[in-house]
Amino acid sequence: MKFLEYQVKERFRAAGIPVPDGRLARNPDEAALAAGALGSVVVKAQVPTGGRGKAGGIKLAGTPLDAKRAAAEILGMTIKGYPVREVWCETSQEILRELYLGLTLDRDARKPVLILSARGGMDIEEVAQTHPETIAKLHPDPWRGPLAFEVRDLIFRAGLGPLQAQLTPLVSKLYALGRTYDALTIEINPLALTRDGGLVAADGKLEIDENAMFRHKDLHGADESDEDPMEAEAKRRKLTYVRLDGAIGVIGNGAGLVMNTLDLVEREGGHAADFLDIGGGAKAEVVHSALELLAGDPRVKGILINIFGGITRGDEVAHGIIDATRDLDLKLPLVVRMTGTREEEGRRLLKEAGIPPEASASAAARKIVELAATGTGRPAAAS
Ligand code: GDP
Ligand code: MN
Repeated sequence: MKFLEYQVKERFRAAGIPVPDGRLARNPDEAALAAGALGSVVVKAQVPTGGRGKAGGIKLAGTPLDAKRAAAEILGMTIKGYPVREVWCETSQEILRELYLGLTLDRDARKPVLILSARGGMDIEEVAQTHPETIAKLHPDPWRGPLAFEVRDLIFRAGLGPLQAQLTPLVSKLYALGRTYDALTIEINPLALTRDGGLVAADGKLEIDENAMFRHKDLHGADESDEDPMEAEAKRRKLTYVRLDGAIGVIGNGAGLVMNTLDLVEREGGHAADFLDIGGGAKAEVVHSALELLAGDPRVKGILINIFGGITRGDEVAHGIIDATRDLDLKLPLVVRMTGTREEEGRRLLKEAGIPPEASASAAARKIVELAATGTGRPAAAS
């Protein structure tokens, strides 16, 4: 789960990491008011993605009128697919130098890694490519966290020795915050060295590991409507769903089987619209819910259901399919392959309902690709 910059900064402030004063604005007039109260401001698009500066989503405004204009412009933008609904207006900083400070997960080292660089700002990725030596890293022991001497060493390795006194507590606070939130990434870029010699978090990013959300039920991240609507709906239905770019809706039980089915569809020249795993032991309602989800996706031109019954029962799945096609008045081509537990019963039910199952997974994949391409719809009952 990702947070918006202002939500991250609220948490920075609470943790004692200095941030500029700011206000949220939902329209240009509110931005003018914020500038009236704060003075010279920077108007910043609030979207859950980086690269806002380069996309024109960050503008300096010296007066309330400037702020109003800047907000009007930014609120009309879409950045990397996210429409801007709010801007954060904060006291603009006189930045002498832009540093980078972040904590992320190093999967190779199987440890969190603190990253510090004297060359932060919008080109940090490029710096990492061209001058990796200017980026200092520290893998603290995950049980005891970073020790004082390790943090000092990190700061000196980054060439930031003169700022040691100010940086040391920031590194510790960011680390603690990241661990508290089970962050995949928590980052200050830029960490601004200002004219008066202070360090201020001019930007903030925080992404929490979805697998840890049960420990953070009280948290609300970036507006859910910013999420892919299909994925959000699937989540509400407790389905394991991943959106892909093709036109064939794929449903299977078990991640391995679904992956395999995606490959079969590709092999037949088709492209799947999704990965949808109904899991083991799925009941008729789950099958119904999965079909309903895909039927509501205008991109889907045909649906392929691949079931290998272990604890999942063929008759149960068949009932789900039959009820759903009737309730939803499903006109899309639908192809089923079913084998395993209660296979005979399931196949018989499907056949009677006019959805005769295919003999093999490859045959099923071939058929759905063909039907979806010609858009002929579901074969009439008992054909
Ligand atoms: P991002 O592009 O999405 O990472 O957005 P940032 O919040 O990092 O802003 C991008 C850039 O805008 C920063 O690297 C700064 O150079 C600049 N910027 C942000 N806030 C201020 C500010 O208060 N004063 C000045 N002068 N520049 C700022
Ligand atoms: Mn940034």
